[in-house]
Amino acid sequence: PFRSLVAQPADSLLRLIGAFRADPRAHKIDLGVGVFRDDHGHTPVMQAVKQAEMRLIATQDSKAYLGPEGDKGFVALLEPLVFGRGFPAERRCGLQTPGGTGALRLGAELLAKAGVRRILVGQPSWANHAPVFAAAGIVVVPHAMFDMGAQRIDLPALRAAIGQAEAGDAILLHGCCHNPTGIDPTAEEWRAIADAVADSRLVPFIDLAYQGLGDGMEADAAGTRMVLDAVPFAVVAYSCDKNFGLYRERTGALWATTPEPQARDIVLSNLLALARANWSMPPDHGAAAVRIVLENEQLAADWRGELDALRTRLQGLRGELAALGQVGSVDLAPLAQGKGMFATLPLTPAQIEWLRATHGIYMAGSGRINIAGFAPGDIARFGEALVDLGRA
Ligand code: PMP
Repeated sequence: PFRSLVAQPADSLLRLIGAFRADPRAHKIDLGVGVFRDDHGHTPVMQAVKQAEMRLIATQDSKAYLGPEGDKGFVALLEPLVFGRGFPAERRCGLQTPGGTGALRLGAELLAKAGVRRILVGQPSWANHAPVFAAAGIVVVPHAMFDMGAQRIDLPALRAAIGQAEAGDAILLHGCCHNPTGIDPTAEEWRAIADAVADSRLVPFIDLAYQGLGDGMEADAAGTRMVLDAVPFAVVAYSCDKNFGLYRERTGALWATTPEPQARDIVLSNLLALARANWSMPPDHGAAAVRIVLENEQLAADWRGELDALRTRLQGLRGELAALGQVGSVDLAPLAQGKGMFATLPLTPAQIEWLRATHGIYMAGSGRINIAGFAPGDIARFGEALVDLGRA
């Protein structure tokens, strides 16, 4: 039966990583990767996480199964961080998932099982969103929502898309640090989005994968909370893989909200059944480490300090890029307002290829750059390369 299969294209970012490795030029710059990097191009294990892992190894006395809900303490400790203190506990249920991707897939399957057929996805979005929703049998309806030249939300376009949707459709919203644009709604825009989504009776599907990398843990949840407060039903897919640096440990959670506890209990029973059919139980290690960090005051404070440092590095680099202003055809000034690791530059595929071939600057074919890919001194060279591109 395998002879009937059609070969699938290799992941273009993985191809880019291979090409970068093979490039002998000393001054090459890798802006393609999707992970945080420090000044030395390293993706470190956070010290607080390392401490928690050592405690976990020292104290864990069983590897017996936990159950399809995973580590309940982990989920409970994340809830005040995501929902704040005001959201009624009886209106939500949650469970641990294998990363944010597992949460997205499980949330999509829950929607499909509940009869949701379509999800609105603003373009561009993380490249894996559409495949995950499609795999769960949900039709992705793309729409415009960014003014890429001005690097801001195109609220009229977003409102129009919401207005054209049918009641009961879902809409994907990036909670913060939009991947790949870095363009997040302002507080006023979040208010408008929450109201429009509620008025049109859509089900918000919030992807919160970078909490703390934009403006801080609280500020980065503000839009999510506004939306959750405005609607009866919603799902939130969460990742700890960036803000705890856990990537390969696959650490995430999914919550669903309902207007009343009876519906909540039924939703949870469905989530557990879907999880059971997918992975039976999520991997323990990353979630246990996060739980140990969050239940310990000192480790939690240390982690917050380290997260602050990640964010400060990103904000500093954004400031340096923005200070270059207009370089060639690209205005970098709006990047100072962007959030998180990513920005998408208005460059054509040919220009992106020229930057790679001529200057050893590697970025995704979409023009997405990972701000954390810049080492000290790289930004001046990047600016010169863009000036050179303007002349080419
Ligand atoms: N959502 C977005 C927007 C992401 O960028 C990513 C990871 N790149 C994820 C979800 C998935 O995160 P995880 O690695 O935890 O599966």
